[in-house]
Amino acid sequence: MNKRVDKPTETVAVTDITEEFHPAGVGELDLYQKREKIYTRRIEGFYQRIRVYTGWPLLLGYFLLPWLNWDGRQAVLFDLPNRQFHIFNLTFWPQDFPLLAWMMIIAAFALFTVTAWAGRIWCGYTCPQTVWTAIFMWVEQWCEGSRNQRIKWDKAPWSVEKFARKLSKHALWGGFALLTGFSFVAYFSPARELLVNLVTIDFAALLSLGFNLDWWGLGIWEASWIIFFTLATYINAGWLREQVCMYMCPYARFQSVMFDQDTLIVSYDYHRGESRGARKKGVDASEKGLGDCVDCQICVQVCPTGIDIRDGLQYECINCALCIDGCNSVMDQMGYEKGLIRYTTENSLNGQPTNFLRPRLIGYAVAVVVMVAIFFTSIIVRVPLKLDVIRDRDRLYIQTTEGYIENSYTLKVINMDQQSHQYQISFSGLEGAKIIGKSKVVVIPGELSELPIRLSIDPADLEKTNNTIEFNVQAIDGSDYEAIAESRFIGPRVK
Ligand code: SF4
Ligand code: SF4
Repeated sequence: MNKRVDKPTETVAVTDITEEFHPAGVGELDLYQKREKIYTRRIEGFYQRIRVYTGWPLLLGYFLLPWLNWDGRQAVLFDLPNRQFHIFNLTFWPQDFPLLAWMMIIAAFALFTVTAWAGRIWCGYTCPQTVWTAIFMWVEQWCEGSRNQRIKWDKAPWSVEKFARKLSKHALWGGFALLTGFSFVAYFSPARELLVNLVTIDFAALLSLGFNLDWWGLGIWEASWIIFFTLATYINAGWLREQVCMYMCPYARFQSVMFDQDTLIVSYDYHRGESRGARKKGVDASEKGLGDCVDCQICVQVCPTGIDIRDGLQYECINCALCIDGCNSVMDQMGYEKGLIRYTTENSLNGQPTNFLRPRLIGYAVAVVVMVAIFFTSIIVRVPLKLDVIRDRDRLYIQTTEGYIENSYTLKVINMDQQSHQYQISFSGLEGAKIIGKSKVVVIPGELSELPIRLSIDPADLEKTNNTIEFNVQAIDGSDYEAIAESRFIGPRVK
């Protein structure tokens, strides 16, 4: 997306550029851009209410979901040690990895679709970095006051009040960051046990000052991840803020590929706003050749990334619409029509009609709908039973004292259902052979049962040396779940 250019550009010779970067008497160009601290001004308005309505359900969902139980276990639990992902009444196993990969692809396509239609609304309203930063900013305003007061506090020498305000801000940030880190790990380690472990401290062991965590109920991995996510939240939302969006997030860099002239963007109406300038309320600004922009800088002061939207669309803009609410409040005060800064499209700004139903957008949307339909169909028809067969590789076959030829296998039967099932094991592809060992097995929900069995055959019935066979596992308790896996039966050379 191009920035608005006020003046025609001039062709500049390479030597001029070099001189500009290395003017006489000035040292080397410093490639490090020092960060100017951004003091955002609090603003209320229509879009901020939408941000609150979208942000709170996401926050509450994130914090409360690990505490929700479903069918006697945590509703959402990514149980890595047992390699099971529980999401309500579904359990995903490593064998379901294609489904999870498919889910990621759907999420990526959905993001492309939304971005092509409405720009970076994901960034402005639902991205965790934006939501958490908004909470941290709210805490900062609560502890240190308005924008002007915060600037004053930062310039003021240290005093008891300044120390108390800063301390309370960092303590609240730290507490919220800890809650965030704990909740994240609670998706991987059962939340209730994790909480008990977190607060279990063996003071006698602690006082012995050993270089280990034996005094703490938490294991080393749980403790490390909670500390890591607590620090990451505190640093990202408290200190780095807009720098995460500007320098670390790859999405900010490639989003422009998905934009076109009909994509909704937050934009300043250049034709209506210029020439900008201060004026008294009620004065006819057009007589002075002024547009509707009173150059109050409110749009810049409310911007969490510190940009001036009047300079045109910039990659730092996260489409949060704070500048729209800020400018609308100024327009209200001046008695002007709202919308000097608004959600619009480049075509609309240039007086062209906006085409929302364009082929690219329809293509994206159709692709997402088809992928979602395939995903849910796969879930519905998915059989909650898996069978893996591992053939004994140590010996090709054994010959018993009775003269029979035997091959050994380990059958791994995984019950991915929520109830126990009894399964019958059978095979096909080897006429005259029989199973030695158990041919029935009961597997409890979410468990894997390993069953060693042997196939035995009279060599006179063996027609080939290398035979393809199929093992079949069939539920025999009323459900019709069935799984099949292929293997081989190898015998002596057949003449
Ligand atoms: S320019 Fe406006 S929409 Fe963009 S980040 Fe700043 S305040 Fe948000
Ligand atoms: S808030 Fe509106 S009126 Fe004020 S400087 Fe920004 S664009 Fe101009």
